[in-house]
Order: sequence, then structure tokens, then C-alpha cells
Amino acid sequence: MGAHQSSDFVDLWKLKIPTKSLVFAWRLIRDRLPTKMNLSRRQVTVNDLMCPFCGGAMEEAAHLFFSCSKIQPLWWESLSWVNLLTALPQNPRDYYLQHVLGYVEGKKQIRWRCWWIAMTSTIWKHRNKIVFHNDTLDGSKLIEEAVLLLWTWIKVMEKDFAIHFNQWSSNIKEAFSN
Ligand SMILES: [Zn+2]
Repeated sequence: MGAHQSSDFVDLWKLKIPTKSLVFAWRLIRDRLPTKMNLSRRQVTVNDLMCPFCGGAMEEAAHLFFSCSKIQPLWWESLSWVNLLTALPQNPRDYYLQHVLGYVEGKKQIRWRCWWIAMTSTIWKHRNKIVFHNDTLDGSKLIEEAVLLLWTWIKVMEKDFAIHFNQWSSNIKEAFSN
């Protein structure tokens, strides 16, 4: 689709987070994750094609990660941290670009990009727990886990970052404001 030519996608690889998380984000942006619909397109037999979160739509990446009625409120919550109210895009690539461009200026922009990856990879982890281990979705637990993941990345990325997790996460808006 040519999107990888864009410098915004090259910048993805400059983020100093674990490679497996970068690879995950890359696969999501290019719609290469083994979602049920992608498996079925590859002639893999999938008995239940429905979204494991809501059960009301086919499990496409764009639905599973963003437009699902169980997931969208979690994005709205984090968008409220940066006082952002806007229409959400329809596919993972545009979602990523929306996160990269515009919302937050300056040094906190890197954190905001990482937040996108922390959120999407935690959504995928919870999806797998539901699909393979019959777990149930707990949205607030999902957000908490994603926030913890982001904090562990920032601790490695930013040398002067020394805020205790409880203090940092209880004032999460500050994490994205300059
Ligand atoms: Zn759904």
C-alpha cells in the first residue's frame, strides 16, 4: 500500500521500545495480524469469525482494535487525557497516523506514539486470553495494564524519568502534557 515509504512509519522503528512490540505495531498497521478474518482469507478454517469482545461483528483488525463497542470507550478515555474529541479513523494505519500527527506536540509526542502501541498490544493480549483461554474482557484492567506497559517503556527510554508508577498513573494526563 506504499505507506511504509512515509517517514512516519520509518519513525516507528526509532522508538526505543522492545522490538517485538514494534513488530506487532507494524503488523497491525499493515493488517498482517492473524485475526479471524485474516486467517479465513488464508483458507484457515475458523469456526467462529465473530469479534470475541462484542460478538456483534466479524473479527477484522479495524473492528477489533478500534471500532468495537467494547474497545472504543477505552480509546475515548485516553483521548480525554489529551483533551481530544474527534472522529476516529476507520483503519489501523490511519489510527496510527492520527496518533503520530497533531495531537500532542513536543517531547511528549513520543510517549503518545508509544501509548498507541501499548494500547493495541494490550488489546491483542486480552483478545488472545479470551479466544484461547475463555477469559472475559475487563476494560479497566486492560487500560491499567497498558498504562503499566507504557510506564516500563518510558523508564527505559527517558534517562531522567524517575516517577513511581502509582504517582505517575494516578496523574496520567500530566504524562502527556508539556
Ligand atoms: Zn467487537
